[in-house]
Amino acid sequence: MSKSGFVPHVVADSAAIGAQRFATARDVALQLRPDQPIYCFRPGVLAADARAFKAVFPGKTAYAVKTNGEHEVLKTLADDGMAVFDVASPAEFAAARAVSPRSELLYMHPVKAQSDIRLAFETYKIRVTAVDHEDEVAKVLRIVRALDLDPEDFTLFVRIASKGEAAYELSKKFGAAPAHAAELLQRIDNIGFKCGIAFHVGSQVEDPTTYERSIATAAEVRDAARVPIAELDIGGGFPALYGADPRKRQTAMPPLTELMRSILDAVAKHGFGDTPLVAEPGRVVVARAYSLVARVLLKKGQRLYINDGIWSSLSDSWTGKLLLPVNHIPDPARRRRFGDPNKMVPFRIYGATCDSVDVLSRPFYLPETVDTGDWIEIGHIGAYSLSLRTRFNGFYPDTVVEVDQPFESADLGASLPEPERPQDGVGGDSRGELHEPPEEVR
Ligand SMILES: *Cc1c(COP(=O)(O)O)cnc(C)c1O
Repeated sequence: MSKSGFVPHVVADSAAIGAQRFATARDVALQLRPDQPIYCFRPGVLAADARAFKAVFPGKTAYAVKTNGEHEVLKTLADDGMAVFDVASPAEFAAARAVSPRSELLYMHPVKAQSDIRLAFETYKIRVTAVDHEDEVAKVLRIVRALDLDPEDFTLFVRIASKGEAAYELSKKFGAAPAHAAELLQRIDNIGFKCGIAFHVGSQVEDPTTYERSIATAAEVRDAARVPIAELDIGGGFPALYGADPRKRQTAMPPLTELMRSILDAVAKHGFGDTPLVAEPGRVVVARAYSLVARVLLKKGQRLYINDGIWSSLSDSWTGKLLLPVNHIPDPARRRRFGDPNKMVPFRIYGATCDSVDVLSRPFYLPETVDTGDWIEIGHIGAYSLSLRTRFNGFYPDTVVEVDQPFESADLGASLPEPERPQDGVGGDSRGELHEPPEEVR
């Protein structure tokens, strides 16, 4: 595989067993000279980010498996002490238990198939789930009765609707309005289930008041229901660090510690200080754990055609309009280059498929000298990238290597020089957006 005669050493004890291991993504590109996209997995970064979350959150931390359910991710987390997983489907139950047979699974999907509920309770011994409608309570109760189980062993979280400022808004799909939620809690309490209140504000939430508003709603629901609340689940949505758009005024993103402090202040202020807390982080745990080494297949002016795209690893950045941090890895075999290597230019990125919508909604800022055959390391793509790959057009990146050093890039939240006006039709709308992504689906 290596064209340079480099013999990669095989890691026997690592999560991605047998994965080749490199110091940096640059080594991956220059030693393998890959024509297919390659995922660079950093188990050390993953474990560190999971610990960082647990260090600031004084409750039960359940990793949201849908964010990235790769075996190497779940195994790394479980080996590092993650004991609770937020799951939504039989495949996720199996994936979580495969790495950690005694892990606790929280089945936090509010709308479930009857047969999946049975599998969860009977085979996987799951005892925690979510509802946002009385018919779902009836489905859950039917299975509990059929299996002759005690409702008291179950906690049913009522998912409340929340609205706010997330890159992805989920309040339109799930969640009960406050009066309805209070009624559901009374119904659940009457049956003998333990009651919880849950919300999920969306993903990549950068405004702390979003959580505070949901916590206030949860308090309103609690006070109206007047039943004991065993747990408060504040969901996921905690933001990861992405690139900074030099054309926009920087809205400083609060570091996790600060965001968590304001959440915990709201928890105390709204009378949940003694209620056990649950969180379901996904993105903030796994985003930094992967980068992607992609290759430039063709440069046309300020357009770059690359060997990945929205139907492979980059759909999350497309729908969430995230500006991804990138590094240029020039091909040393290219002798002649044009332009100024120190001038950063916004390139419009075209994906590998023949689909005309396969164009990123945000540019990549790269040196003017980037050219056909070069590689681009795309950072912080651990969340919602591998999990959202499709086989569309026959492209399906599936090679993972391990990389020791964290991804580093100058444009991680730092400001870049003001770019030139785009030429050759690129970013003609000057906002770097050609296509409106569809309504989010997550
Ligand atoms: C997707 C999801 C999460 C994880 O969200 P992140 O934004 O990745 O942290 C947590 N809880 C629920 C219910 C979800 O649907």
